Amino acid sequence: MQRIQLTEDLSFSRIIHGLWRLSDWKMSNEDVVKLIEDCLEAGISTFDHADIYGNYTCEKKFGDALALKPELRKRMEIVTKCGIKLVSDNRPEHCIKSYDTSKEHILASVQQSLENFQTDYIDVLLIHRPDPYMDPAQVADAFTQLKSEGKVRHFGVSNFKRSQFKMLQSYLDFPLVTNQIELSAYNLENFEDGTLDLCQEARIAPMAWSPLAGGAIFSAEDEKAKRLRDTLEKIAGDIGATEIDEVLYAWLLSHPANIMPIVGSGKMNRIESAIKALDLTLTRDQWFDILQVAMGREIA
Ligand code: NAP
Repeated sequence: MQRIQLTEDLSFSRIIHGLWRLSDWKMSNEDVVKLIEDCLEAGISTFDHADIYGNYTCEKKFGDALALKPELRKRMEIVTKCGIKLVSDNRPEHCIKSYDTSKEHILASVQQSLENFQTDYIDVLLIHRPDPYMDPAQVADAFTQLKSEGKVRHFGVSNFKRSQFKMLQSYLDFPLVTNQIELSAYNLENFEDGTLDLCQEARIAPMAWSPLAGGAIFSAEDEKAKRLRDTLEKIAGDIGATEIDEVLYAWLLSHPANIMPIVGSGKMNRIESAIKALDLTLTRDQWFDILQVAMGREIA
């Protein structure tokens, strides 16, 4: 499996596994260990989490599984996020949905994540969403403390637009290592609004969430989804792919920005589609065909 070097001492597997839906999969701890081992065996070593996933349950479910085979921890990179506060039975003190990027909240959230994962370090911590009430000096303070304590190795952001990324970066003495953004042929916003340009300008590889549009690409009945399915099926035939998800992954992987798709399925055959896509080559014409079909018009 190809790896992307984020810093001198940190690399991610090109394909990342996402655990947002873990609690929906109704897996036992043994099932989760098997999934982790199968991913590692296939070369996927980077696992994406957030404090809020599964209504604050997914990190702990993963950690409980990991506790069965703690030796797996050093073979993986754990990414997690903080900064969103959900109204939840599991957080009765939250009165309304809000963002919190205060130093106090970041430190408390990381402490909870470490306990959930039963580990003593997080590889990369992301601020989950840009916070309109953010004090970047406090975020910088929290990051610096977590780094010096060895609790978090590196930091990044998620869903940050160019100005938000540059603003936070300007307060830090070390580089943000990634921006995790929504990228798929179905959702072109970050291709079109300068967010992907920012990643290329900052020389950071973006993590792509919902690379299959959260599954909508297979089931949505809107015109865009139907057009895309037709084109993806045709191109799949042309390039020797068996399923359209392989073409969608190949579309992201062939882009020069070193996009790292986060696979959101817990089914190994579906995870393997992303791995197979690493060996598929799209021509520039095929890439633009998919782009224009998604846009619903010819480029200018
Ligand atoms: P996705 O891969 O776009 O969507 C996964 C969904 O597609 C699952 O429900 C899956 O169903 C379905 N699916 C996959 N292959 C399929 C197929 N061949 N036919 C029909 N359905 C298929 O990714 P995602 O789960 O939306 O997001 C991936 C990861 O990104 C998350 O786990 C999380 O780590 C991260 N994320 C981050 C943010 C953020 O704000 N930073 C937001 C959303 C997600 P099955 O489960 O049945 O396979």
